[in-house]
Amino acid sequence: MTKSYDYDVVVVGGGPAGLSAAWGAAKKGLSVVVLERDEAIGQNVRTSGVTWIKEAKSFGIPSEYYNEISNYAFYSPNNYVIKKSDTAQAAVLDVRKTYQFLAYQAASVGADIFLRTSVTDAIKNDKGKLSGVKATSLKEELVFNSKLVIDASGFYSVVGRSLGIVMPWKRFGAGAEYEAYVDKIDSDTWYLMVGSQYSPAGYAWIFPLGKNKVRIGVGVGKPNSQADASKLLIELLEKRPKPLNDLGRIVPVEFHYGLIPNEGLRQSTIDDNLIMVGDSAGQANPLVLEGIRYAIEFGRAAGRIGGESILQGDVSKESLKSYEQTMKKAIGSKIAAAVKVQYRWLNLSDQEWDKEIEIIGELSAEEFLDFIKADFGVTNMLKLAAHHPKLALQQLFQIIKNTNKDEET
Ligand SMILES: Cc1cc2nc3c(=O)[nH]c(=O)nc-3n(C[C@H](O)[C@H](O)[C@H](O)COP(=O)(O)OP(=O)(O)OC[C@H]3O[C@@H](n4cnc5c(N)ncnc54)[C@H](O)[C@@H]3O)c2cc1C
Repeated sequence: MTKSYDYDVVVVGGGPAGLSAAWGAAKKGLSVVVLERDEAIGQNVRTSGVTWIKEAKSFGIPSEYYNEISNYAFYSPNNYVIKKSDTAQAAVLDVRKTYQFLAYQAASVGADIFLRTSVTDAIKNDKGKLSGVKATSLKEELVFNSKLVIDASGFYSVVGRSLGIVMPWKRFGAGAEYEAYVDKIDSDTWYLMVGSQYSPAGYAWIFPLGKNKVRIGVGVGKPNSQADASKLLIELLEKRPKPLNDLGRIVPVEFHYGLIPNEGLRQSTIDDNLIMVGDSAGQANPLVLEGIRYAIEFGRAAGRIGGESILQGDVSKESLKSYEQTMKKAIGSKIAAAVKVQYRWLNLSDQEWDKEIEIIGELSAEEFLDFIKADFGVTNMLKLAAHHPKLALQQLFQIIKNTNKDEET
């Protein structure tokens, strides 16, 4: 027999977006459930877990859950730059601990979590409106009825696709990574590596988690390249191009694999009784595969705004508009510009990469970080263009400025 549950809010997916949405809605006093197909929150790590200390602090993530980074190295085939800053700004998260922290936070305000529960379909009421989801758990069929569904299922946008309101992503990044023991690493320096010896369309990375612990990975842009990120990772460890040759022994302890959308925001992230958030909504900066802070920030907003709509007795698309408007205002143009820079990067030859690194070398550490974070406000860009009159650098900024203009009109 099919078991049936009733909640105010059903959240599909127990990643950073879903757990934060559950927290936001449960804090409003609503009944909330998170449905997660894995056996544990954070069990299958699909991310490198780099974020920013400022945001991590604002979310209340304990500092013992991340390693602080203050130096940023960038390698191309024949070039190299390192940006050093006095204070650490980036953080490499212990992903499992961080996501479980978010889960406990949501549970502490009343949210339920169902593990090993895979959502298979959306359910509609007799008016044709979304009214919950179907799921399977341990071969049992379950039904969850709700006033609002939050689709936080990540790359697959399970509910949005089941309703037919969004399509599968056509452009995306695929990343494979080892968490590994290494003999030697500067634990406060991260390394990004670009050029064909690392990835035919994308880049490789070394993100330290501590004294002898790193994440080493490689990302590939699809459909630009058909290369298999997992195979490239194995080759990287065999060939050990610089700076991997400085690490001494590399002993993999855990394998991670994930996909990230690379098309910018979904045109619409809301519908009657539905909010999409996190990767499901395209809320990631694809320039450096970065979406955790947006997933948490807009997950919380989705829970809060969706919760308020329920309390006011209207969960129509119209009533959820403020979620989409606030989110698009905050990150719409940044993500659109990051997508454009990313498209340019995916097509650079090794020689062009050597030049690009030279251009990046002109930036101060602060400017470099603004760039990597896709903090491309118009004022920031104008300041940068004035400081860096080199034509090539200006061309790069032009892409961003034009995107900002497009987004504003
Ligand atoms: C290789 C790689 C490296 C990355 N590195 C970084 C980084 O360093 N820093 C950064 O900020 N971002 C990084 N990202 C991006 C970041 O991981 C995502 O932006 C972020 O995880 C989005 O969070 P989310 O909650 O929307 O989705 P997810 O983290 O993908 O969570 C979705 C959850 O939904 C569950 N789910 C899916 N389908 C169903 C279903 N049918 N039923 C029930 N549950 C379901 C999944 O099991 C998962 O737990 C990286 C991405 C990739 C691919």
